[in-house]
This record gives sequence, C-alpha cells and structure tokens, in this order.
Amino acid sequence: MDPFLKEEHHIIRKAVRDFAEREIKPRAAELDEKEEFSPELTEKMGEMGLFGMYLPEKYGGHDSDYLSYIIAVEEIARVDGSHAATLAAHNSLGVGPIYNFGSEEQKLKYLPGLCSGKELWAFGLTEADAGSDSRGSRTFVKDIGEEWEIQGSKIFITNGSTAQTSGVTVQAVSEVKGRDKEFTCILVEKGTEGWKSEAMHGKLMWRASDTSQMFFDNCRVPKKNILGERGMGSKIMLKTLDSGRLSIAAMGLGLAQGAFEMALEYAKERKQFGKPISKFQINSFKLADMATKIELARNLLYKACWLKDNGQPFEKESAMSKLYCSEIAKQVADEGVQIHGGYGLMKEYPIERFYRDQRLLQIGEGTSEIQRLVISRYIGC
Ligand SMILES: Cc1cc2nc3c(=O)[nH]c(=O)nc-3n(C[C@H](O)[C@H](O)[C@H](O)COP(=O)(O)OP(=O)(O)OC[C@H]3O[C@@H](n4cnc5c(N)ncnc54)[C@H](O)[C@@H]3O)c2cc1C
Repeated sequence: MDPFLKEEHHIIRKAVRDFAEREIKPRAAELDEKEEFSPELTEKMGEMGLFGMYLPEKYGGHDSDYLSYIIAVEEIARVDGSHAATLAAHNSLGVGPIYNFGSEEQKLKYLPGLCSGKELWAFGLTEADAGSDSRGSRTFVKDIGEEWEIQGSKIFITNGSTAQTSGVTVQAVSEVKGRDKEFTCILVEKGTEGWKSEAMHGKLMWRASDTSQMFFDNCRVPKKNILGERGMGSKIMLKTLDSGRLSIAAMGLGLAQGAFEMALEYAKERKQFGKPISKFQINSFKLADMATKIELARNLLYKACWLKDNGQPFEKESAMSKLYCSEIAKQVADEGVQIHGGYGLMKEYPIERFYRDQRLLQIGEGTSEIQRLVISRYIGC
C-alpha cells in the first residue's frame, strides 16, 4: 500500500507502461542511433492523452493531478529518455507557463492544440552566456508601440525546431535600471518574421529529442503576446522551473527503474564460474542498493507531488527530488553497465543508451550544484 497512490494512479501507470513498451521501446535504439526526432511518436503520445494531462478539460486536458503526469513521465523514461524529454519539456516548460500565467484568451487560443500532440511549445530561457545565471541574458525586448521587438538568441531549447513546434515562450530583458534588469516573457508563434530555429546535432544523450538554437532578429510580435505582465519574466520562469524540476526528477526515477530492471534480469541470466552472477554477493548487494535508492527517490518525488497537488509549498522538495533522482539515475545506470560487463558498453544493449541519457539530468533545468544552492537557501544557510 503506497500512501501517495490512488487507484487512478495505478491505472495510468499501467496504460502508459503498455503504450511505452508497445510504441516507444521497439523504436528507441534506432531513433537514438539516427539522431532522429519522431513526429509520429510525439503525435501518438498526444493521442494517449499525455500532453496537458493536468489541465482542465476546457483547455483540452484531462483534469488529472500532477502526480499522474509525473507517473506518465516516469513510465516513458523507463524505456527511453528522449521521448520522456519531449513529453516533460512540452508539458512542464511549454504548456505550464501559458496555463499558469496566460490570459483566458491565450489559454483558449493555444492550449487545446498543445494538448493534442500535433503542436509543441518551447521554453526559451538559456543563452550562450546565460545558463545557470539566467540574469546574464542578452536577449532584449523593446516596446515599439503596437508591437514588441525581440533581439537576441537562445541555446539548448528543447522542442524548438520540430515540424510540430508552434511557438516559444521567450524570456527577454525589457529594461535595464542601473545594475538591475527587468525581464518580460513574450509568446512567439511559428512563422513570425525574424525568428529562426536550428536543430543542434551531435548530442551524447537524448539523441531522439529536439534541441535547438534560436535567433531573434528584429522579431516583431503583437502587443497582446505578452505572458503575464511586463516585469514578471523572472517570476514566470522561476515558478515554471519549480514544477519542471519534478518532471526531470521523474525522468531520473524512470531511467533508474529501467536500468535496474535490465541489470537484474541480466544478472539472473548471465552465468560465470558456473552460476548466475546475481548469486555473487557483490552483485546482489549492488542490486539491493539500486532498489533502495529507487525506493527513496520515488518516495521523495511522490511526496513533492503530493504537496503540490494539495496546494502546499513544494519548492524545496522539488529541488531535492530533482537533485536526488538525477544523481541516483547516474549511479544506477553506472552500476547497471558494470553488471553487464563488456556487453554493457555495446549499443546492442539498451543499458548503454541509459548510461548516456542519464547525464543530462544533472545539468538541465538547473545543475546539481544549483539545486544544492536552492536547497541550502530553503534550509536557512
Ligand atoms: C539537451 C538540453 C536541453 C535543454 N533544454 C532547455 C530548454 O528547453 N530551455 C532552456 O531554457 N534551457 C534548456 N537547457 C539549458 C540548461 O538548462 C542549461 O544547460 C543549464 O541550466 C546549465 O547552464 P549552462 O549549460 O550554461 O552551464 P553553466 O551555467 O555555464 O554551468 C557550468 C558549470 O558551472 C556550475 N555553476 C554555475 N554557476 C554556479 C554557482 N553559482 N555555484 C556553483 N556552481 C555553479 C554549474 O553547476 C556547472 O557545473 C537544455 C540543455 C540541454 C543540454
């Protein structure tokens, strides 16, 4: 009996697991190898109802709680990091800001399409010189009367250059007051003149997920495309990251679960010195440690989701979950490779892809160092 899970959560887990095993798992290695984003699988995730799950039905969502969505990310990550990335970035970073800070008109305009799987929305915060320190941004937005004009660039933006990408939320500097910067978020739609996106290639991990560079050159958007109010940019981005961290944590947990299952199965099958390698205590203890870490990670993450779903502060637990789940994903994937021996280094075995995919989790949406910084502030350091 799990204190955080209700019947509906078990139903969602089973449905998403079946879908992931049937649709994503058989294609994951090939898409990773070709470094190919799949519009078809993205659309199927939409048809499964995985986009905008936690939104009200009037916006195209399914009215589920946040934990249900997190379980969905976990189950996709259990078979493949790239597709979990597409799902998590779209829901937490694409849909999230519009749902939480958009006007009713913006929500009705954008969200139904974004819940369908036919459209993706990106989140443009990071820049070449503004990563952990997002205040270092050099993308500017100017009020030019009837329109906003954006000038600058973004880097490492997930879902920013696919055929399904229908827009991006851009955080830009709207005013510089002495040493202070004012930030504003603007919704930029696909096809807007002056906005160009280019896919970035050559990634170690998440190779079937889209990562892009964006350029804004005198890019003009209508005045009504402001998200929230002028000067709310930092607040929108930071609030978005508080929830986004839960989905990165879910990716870490799901990846660790998948890697653990592979390692356990392999250890029971592989024989050396006349017996399965799982019978050597050093390996069974490794598996015991993996299972314990996964159990701890799941409890921490589900508690953070429970707090969010029950309207309680969850920001500290969210940062802790992101930190812990991503760090144990690294440890479990590493031990998973070790248990596979030389075979774990070959592409034929999916543990090799899991070992690569985990590496982003300690970097994206705030590095492990930044999570520790956030947590240290919450605990009063
Ligand atoms: C595949 C991928 C997808 C991404 N998707 C998106 C997206 O959709 N939207 C988006 O806006 N961004 C996205 N990012 C960007 C990601 O969030 C940043 O890469 C991350 O925040 C780190 O920034 P950085 O890479 O510039 O590293 P830096 O900030 O330059 O950090 C370098 C190192 O210095 C450390 N460091 C920095 N500051 C401190 C400090 N104060 N104390 C201690 N250590 C510190 C960091 O922890 C890190 O180890 C993505 C990145 C990748 C790789």
